[in-house]
Amino acid sequence: MPISSASLEAAQILDRLERLARREEHANRLNPAQWEALRYLARANRFSRTPAALAEYLAATRGTISRTLASLEAKGLVARDASARDGRSIDLALTAEGQSAVRSDPLLVLAADIEAATRGNQAALVECLRQMLRNAIARNAGRAFGACSGCRHFRPQRRPGARAPHHCALLDQPLSEADSHAICVEMEARADRGGAAAEAR
Ligand code: SF4
Repeated sequence: MPISSASLEAAQILDRLERLARREEHANRLNPAQWEALRYLARANRFSRTPAALAEYLAATRGTISRTLASLEAKGLVARDASARDGRSIDLALTAEGQSAVRSDPLLVLAADIEAATRGNQAALVECLRQMLRNAIARNAGRAFGACSGCRHFRPQRRPGARAPHHCALLDQPLSEADSHAICVEMEARADRGGAAAEAR
């Protein structure tokens, strides 16, 4: 496919924005890899807060993730525990200090610039970026990491009186409303959503 000068300029702008955002992250006490891990743990559901899922989401090696998590634990931002579902795996969680750090994420500066530049009309930009993300995931054979609403295993409003409003048929686990909006390593897009990467976030 021929590439127009406008598309090339857009790619160059994204590249420069990304570099400037990384610079703002370095101005804080955390490096970019540590910020990425904190953001993931703030967005992932309880089945996905593991070192392996984090490595998959960031397309990083287990060794890199292990070092990043060790630094975050040493700073008191992340805690780990043996998994209640599988004793061989580890569950990760943000500590109260980690949650506080996410609330002052330097990425909010970029979000504010988007808010101002789009004047409240972000939908077209978000859809365009999502499409680009889907393409990149497909090229790299990565996992989509979408949320429950687009997943073929999601059973919404399962039955009146159940202890949670929703259910995951794959993991046979109850899902709260908040769970259903979090990103998930196991998400598989429904057929009507058009493929594995369709719900990528
Ligand atoms: S319904 Fe799908 S996205 Fe939701 S928890 Fe289950 S596997 Fe994950």
